[in-house]
Amino acid sequence: MARKIFPKEDVCVGCHLCEVYCVYAHSKYKKPNAKAHELVKLYIKHKDSKPTPRILVEEKSGTWTTFALQCRHCDDAPCTKACITGAMKRLEDGRIVCDEEKCVGCWSCIMACPHGAVRRGENKKAASKCDLCLELGEPACVKNCPNEALEIKEV
Ligand code: SF4
Ligand code: SF4
Repeated sequence: MARKIFPKEDVCVGCHLCEVYCVYAHSKYKKPNAKAHELVKLYIKHKDSKPTPRILVEEKSGTWTTFALQCRHCDDAPCTKACITGAMKRLEDGRIVCDEEKCVGCWSCIMACPHGAVRRGENKKAASKCDLCLELGEPACVKNCPNEALEIKEV
């Protein structure tokens, strides 16, 4: 059993707030009691230096349908098999994480992931991907989606 996030494209409104809250959750700087509109302003202002969002809102081409894409913490996890240093690994609780200290930026995991869920981190030296907000208990994207378009389940 592992925890996985499932997007609900029938209710996703494409607001990109999940990206904003993902960046905020993984940012060293935290503005206390920040409101959503303040975070959006900061997100836009610091777009070149902010942490890479670990979730991306995609639009199905030719439709108005949007959905949030992030790591599916796959059972076979091809990213972990492709990783040359062991940086990309499965934790005991089932989630797949990238140890940025071990990552050498070869991007094998990016090429191996069939879902496009791994990206280069903001320093371009290590891979970056969803860690289900290890330290927060509940993923920030799930918690803050205004339309409950993301759901976390044990599967
Ligand atoms: S990064 Fe890609 S391949 Fe690895 S577990 Fe996540 S979705 Fe699967
Ligand atoms: S980029 Fe990093 S995490 Fe990805 S395969 Fe290479 S060493 Fe592993």
